[in-house]
Amino acid sequence: MVFAPDRGTSMAELLFGAPVAAALTERYAPAAEELAKAGRRPALAAIRVGEAKEDMAYQRALAKRCGAMGVAFDALELPGNVSREDLVKKICDLNGNEAVHGVLIFRPLPGELDEAARRALSPEKDVDGITDGSLAGLLTGAGGFAPCTAAACIAILEHYGVSFRGRRAAVVGRSLVVGRPAALLLCERDATVTICHSRTKNLPKILRESEIIIAAAGRANLLGGECFAPGQVVIDVGMNFVNGKLTGDADFAAAEKTVAAITPVPGGVGAVTAALLAANVVRAAKNRG
Ligand code: NAP
Repeated sequence: MVFAPDRGTSMAELLFGAPVAAALTERYAPAAEELAKAGRRPALAAIRVGEAKEDMAYQRALAKRCGAMGVAFDALELPGNVSREDLVKKICDLNGNEAVHGVLIFRPLPGELDEAARRALSPEKDVDGITDGSLAGLLTGAGGFAPCTAAACIAILEHYGVSFRGRRAAVVGRSLVVGRPAALLLCERDATVTICHSRTKNLPKILRESEIIIAAAGRANLLGGECFAPGQVVIDVGMNFVNGKLTGDADFAAAEKTVAAITPVPGGVGAVTAALLAANVVRAAKNRG
């Protein structure tokens, strides 16, 4: 299927997120049900500050996915002008609430709120891998939850049977939310990883020579035809609006003529991110014992 040396004129296989999300739901729903029967239904609390369109859309997707997996979902909606003290207090309340197993904060938050929220959250309830404790666990291999979008990239590759060992992989983007953790997760699976960013020279050459590409720059059409080679697998994390239309970082038309497989945007990484988050809540509830 993937890593075919040459696919001739045929189009790339599309790596849809929905089957991956469905498989995660099927895998974790029984455990959620079992915990619920024991009086410990896994529960996620989401904190949303303001009413950003993207946050509202993610909240709806999460509510739906949690429902399908048997995870209780509650959104705490705070006004856009919430004070740092009030926000931190809400997070501390959730840290101490035994009935809540995971807390998601819709980020980035404006100004100093973002770092204050990240620091206030207890690593135990950090199901989206944003705290220093979770990131340290990822770096050292000591455990904890990896950031869900980065983990979603890996879950898609695994679901579609892509092997990692010894593969040349390139990640475009080095944020703590996607690029860096995705690179660590690939490295952990024995891929040889190049991390690219805005100062990287010869990006197309690096990408052409890679077998796996994870694009997470947030720049529409950054990856043009010159970046692709036959046999590659491309995970496009980018979410860019061009003329009101959602598009990824890859020039999709150029990519699908060349590569072996690529995630569509929309329909790729986003759906899996929400499912992984819900799955992490089930895992956190189980860990609590
Ligand atoms: P971010 O914090 O803005 O980071 C972007 C990264 O891309 C930075 O490391 C930046 O390099 C690099 N970059 C920017 N322009 C570049 C260029 N011309 N060439 C090479 N690298 C370049 O963004 P993020 O939070 O990681 O998100 C990345 C994208 O993923 C966004 O489109 C976001 O909307 C999307 N996303 C999707 C999901 C999902 O579930 N589908 C979830 C989260 C994010 P420097 O470090 O040098 O500045």
